[in-house]
Amino acid sequence: MGKLFLNVLCVIILTVITQIGGVIYLVALLLYRKKTLKKWITFSLLYLISTFAIVPYVAPLFGREKIKTTDSIKIHTFFTSLANRNYVVPEVNNILISVSSTLSKTYPGIEIHCLDANFPFFNGFPLPPHLSHKDGKKLDISLFYEDDKGNIVNDKPSVSGYGVFVNPVSEEYNQISVCKEKGYWQYDFSKYLTLGTVHRDLNFSEKGTRKVIQLLRQESSVSKIFIEPHLRERMKIKHPKVRYHGCRAVRHDDHIHFQVR
Ligand SMILES: [Zn+2]
Repeated sequence: MGKLFLNVLCVIILTVITQIGGVIYLVALLLYRKKTLKKWITFSLLYLISTFAIVPYVAPLFGREKIKTTDSIKIHTFFTSLANRNYVVPEVNNILISVSSTLSKTYPGIEIHCLDANFPFFNGFPLPPHLSHKDGKKLDISLFYEDDKGNIVNDKPSVSGYGVFVNPVSEEYNQISVCKEKGYWQYDFSKYLTLGTVHRDLNFSEKGTRKVIQLLRQESSVSKIFIEPHLRERMKIKHPKVRYHGCRAVRHDDHIHFQVR
């Protein structure tokens, strides 16, 4: 009974984190039911082969492809690729290429860092904890940061890219405390998902972040861009595409979310 529970738990956790991991675990379990070490070695091999050699070729049947990385488009953490969380519809890749090439003209050497995107398969299958990332049309990217001389750098304050916030200063509207007071406890939950803080000395780059938002909203297929209200105010952005996502989501002062039609 205890073993059954553990196996079910493994399937659920692996599915939630990687989509394909739960099924691959079941295959390994059928092959090596009684041999734990062999089971996990088989799982690891099958998982790596599937993730890097099979899934990228099957995903296009579901209308999705991997994020195309270049010198100026990066996946922020390897875990995103390892967990199959880097799939989008082709239009998102077109936008990334277009925006990054214009952005590089203003800020040579700048990199767009992609965070969670979507899983490779099935519309309606969300990518936890982002419940809306379920159709290939959503992507989170990092904010931009500056060193103390005001130069934009490609480093980000947290390992995962999430959870280190650009908090509202005292005179700014504080949406975070409004949501927390209304009982939306999950609103700043991403503070537990940093996987470590690495560059504490970075400052939020208004000019870099404003520029990437401006380029994104100019793309006709981009329908919505989410960022926390105090940052939208601080960057003096007034555009109907750049809007507030509501208290049911998590706070967006550690990343930008955009989506296509
Ligand atoms: Zn998002």
